[in-house]
Amino acid sequence: MPENLDCGIPYTLIFPDINLKDKKVLIQLPDGLKQFSLVIANCIRERYNAEPIIHMENIYGACDLQYNQIFSILNPDIIIHIGHSEYPNYLSPSSLPDNIRNRVVFVKALSKIDVDEALVLRALEILNNYNVKNISIALTAQHTHLYNKISNIILDKKYNIIESKALYPYYEPGQIIGCDFRPVLDKKIDGYIFLGGGEFHPLGLYLATLKPIAQIDLYSNSVRDFTPIGTKYYKKRLFSISKAIEANHWGVIIGLKTGQYRPSILNIIIKMLSKKQYVLLSSENINEINLRSVDNDWYDAFIITSCPRIPIDDLIDYEKPVLSPGEAYMALTGKIDKYMFPW
Ligand code: SF4
Repeated sequence: MPENLDCGIPYTLIFPDINLKDKKVLIQLPDGLKQFSLVIANCIRERYNAEPIIHMENIYGACDLQYNQIFSILNPDIIIHIGHSEYPNYLSPSSLPDNIRNRVVFVKALSKIDVDEALVLRALEILNNYNVKNISIALTAQHTHLYNKISNIILDKKYNIIESKALYPYYEPGQIIGCDFRPVLDKKIDGYIFLGGGEFHPLGLYLATLKPIAQIDLYSNSVRDFTPIGTKYYKKRLFSISKAIEANHWGVIIGLKTGQYRPSILNIIIKMLSKKQYVLLSSENINEINLRSVDNDWYDAFIITSCPRIPIDDLIDYEKPVLSPGEAYMALTGKIDKYMFPW
């Protein structure tokens, strides 16, 4: 049976049914939860008599388990990965290989903040402005337990909901991550109520769908129309793609994070580049500093095959086009009538 662990933090931790007693465990947390790392480590030590190690490295998602280095050097019995669900193997074959699958535990961290009906009603008002009839609910991993409550409020107000199905073991109903929106993609959907903080997830959802989004942020107890923000980014992306259409010399960047190596996408891109010139580049982390260190006059444009958010969130103002795989497809085929993101 899964076990709910209340460590006295604003999140309930849900441990799957696994024996952690007396184990040496390495705890991975997203940056937002690291402030609770000591409390969580002590809580796990007390509950399971386990010996915890808190992993300090930045963890961007379950695509970034860093298992090679961790098991070859520290060799804990188990990696406890908190706050993200398993990264889909259809996006990367090396995200969680069979030989370590039983040594990695994904622990949900569900926010204890409840959603107030008034917030949902304000979100519905925003979607009304866009004449949205068929609504989908999208949410981050921390709020998946609120899907049914929001759904019932919306149905009470006589709106249509396009129901989302779980995709186990990856997603609960409505759950999205920054590069995969599968649970909430349906042609019948006219607009979204998104539950979660910040810009990262709603921006990805907007670019993947180009549909209106009303964002409910429980951490700031606020609601906003995310659509104009998404539109602003969308226009910038179209500009980058149009600049890349004339590019002849391409840099194709391969990701070395365990869940960001995507050989099938890489092969498609290499085939599409058969009439151009290209160089393959590899890196675990990709940022402006290491891109600039290799960039010279030869390169006209870059494609990042690892995390499709890097071109959008980190390198959007780079002076040469830096594209995600879907955007590269548009530039290389000249098919720019339908925006493609992320893949
Ligand atoms: S958006 Fe990037 S960091 Fe987030 S899960 Fe996807 S590949 Fe990983």
